[in-house]
Amino acid sequence: MHEMDGKRLRELISAESIADRVTELGHALTRDYQESGRNLVLVGVMKGSVIFLSDLCRKIALPCMIDLIGIASYGDEAKSSGVVKITSDLSNSIEGKDVVVVEDIIDTGLTVSYLLENLKTRQPRSVKVCALLSKPERTIVKVPIDYLGFTIPDQFVVGYGLDFAQRFRNVPFIGVVEGHAD
Ligand code: 5GP
Repeated sequence: MHEMDGKRLRELISAESIADRVTELGHALTRDYQESGRNLVLVGVMKGSVIFLSDLCRKIALPCMIDLIGIASYGDEAKSSGVVKITSDLSNSIEGKDVVVVEDIIDTGLTVSYLLENLKTRQPRSVKVCALLSKPERTIVKVPIDYLGFTIPDQFVVGYGLDFAQRFRNVPFIGVVEGHAD
């Protein structure tokens, strides 16, 4: 148990386990995008994926570009409504590119499914999804996750980029906030 910022965090996935898995994902991407030339673009979904993205990209031994997209759910911030808006768009065109969407966590799947529909209208050569975490018990929209770090139970997690009211993003492990009712 870790005391942090006035809350008790129970460690679910250690920093070491995350590092090992991120290295494996980087190797898988390196293998699969060997033929992509200079077309690979990692699209990080802000803000939750930025730490995962920064570690992952350094495990990919290929030329690749990085871009970021900001997304917000309409309505209650804590719950996905499925109605999503882009709050900050990509800085470059993805036409003809091999896009890998880098997500922190797939919960209901609503956010990433909206994002995939949106990105596909921009004529990329391919679009795949790489997520650090997935909570399959909560799936509403089934989205193929091409690269997945860990499957976790239906619990609200923080750390390694994931927040609770903008806090805990810099916690190096993935933890559960004790007493947090989802
Ligand atoms: P979805 O649309 O798949 O339901 O929601 C995905 C988004 O909800 C994630 O990108 C993340 O911002 C947020 N989210 C879902 N589950 C959790 C969680 O356990 N912890 C945190 N910090 N955010 C979550």
